[in-house]
Amino acid sequence: MFYVSGVEFDDEPPPEHDDEPRWESDFSDWPSTGADAPDAVGLVMEVADVIAVFAAERLVRVDRMRREALAHAERYGWTMTDVVARSIRLELACALRITEHAAGDLLGLAEAVVHRYPPVLESLSRARMTERHAEVLVSALDRCLGPGCGMPASRCHIDHNVAWEHGGSTALTNLAPFCEGHHIVKHHGGWIVRQLPGGAIEWTSPTGRRYTVHPERPVPAFRTTADNDAPF
Ligand SMILES: [Zn+2]
Repeated sequence: MFYVSGVEFDDEPPPEHDDEPRWESDFSDWPSTGADAPDAVGLVMEVADVIAVFAAERLVRVDRMRREALAHAERYGWTMTDVVARSIRLELACALRITEHAAGDLLGLAEAVVHRYPPVLESLSRARMTERHAEVLVSALDRCLGPGCGMPASRCHIDHNVAWEHGGSTALTNLAPFCEGHHIVKHHGGWIVRQLPGGAIEWTSPTGRRYTVHPERPVPAFRTTADNDAPF
C-alpha cells in the first residue's frame, strides 16, 4: 500500500524481468482441484480481467484524490489551485514512478472516464475493455460514429461492431461509440456497419448507399462514397 494525499493505493506489481516469457510456464505441476486444469490462455484472460477492473478502481480513486485536494486548495484562494494541481501531479508521479507528464495524462484520463464517459468506466470495471482501449476511446472518439450525429460519446453505448457472440473481440478495431438511436439502427435498421482500417465506420444503407464516418471529428460530419444524389 502507499498513500497520495491521504488516499490509499494498492501497490502495483513491479515489472517482470524474467528471461522466460511468462506464458510458456508449465502448469502440469498445479494441484488438481478436480475441475478442468487451467490452461495458459485461460489464465491470461483471467489476469487481463482483473487488471481491467483494478484500472477502473484506480481511475476512480485518482480522480477522487485530485478533486478532494483541489477543493481543499480552493478554501485558501484560487491562487493556490495551480500550485496544488502541480503538487498532485508530482506526488502521483513519485508514487507510481512515472513522469510528471504521464501523471498528468493519468489524471486527465481519470477525470474523463469518471465524469464525461461513464459507459467507458462501466465497460472497464466489467472488464469489457482494457485501460488502453479506454484511453484511446476517450482521446480519439468524442462523438457517436453514426452518420451526421453529434451525440457526445459520454452518452453513447460502446458497441462491439462485430458482436461478441459472433466472434467479435473487445479490441479497438471492433469498438465504437454509438448513441442509442444509431445503436438501434445498426442492429435493427437493415444497415450494414463495419469498421475500416484506421477506425472509420462505414455505414451501408438498405438501398446500398455508403457513408464513411471518421473519428477525431472536430464537428459532426459524414460523406457519401456513392455518386447518387443525397437519399434524404
Ligand atoms: Zn448517433
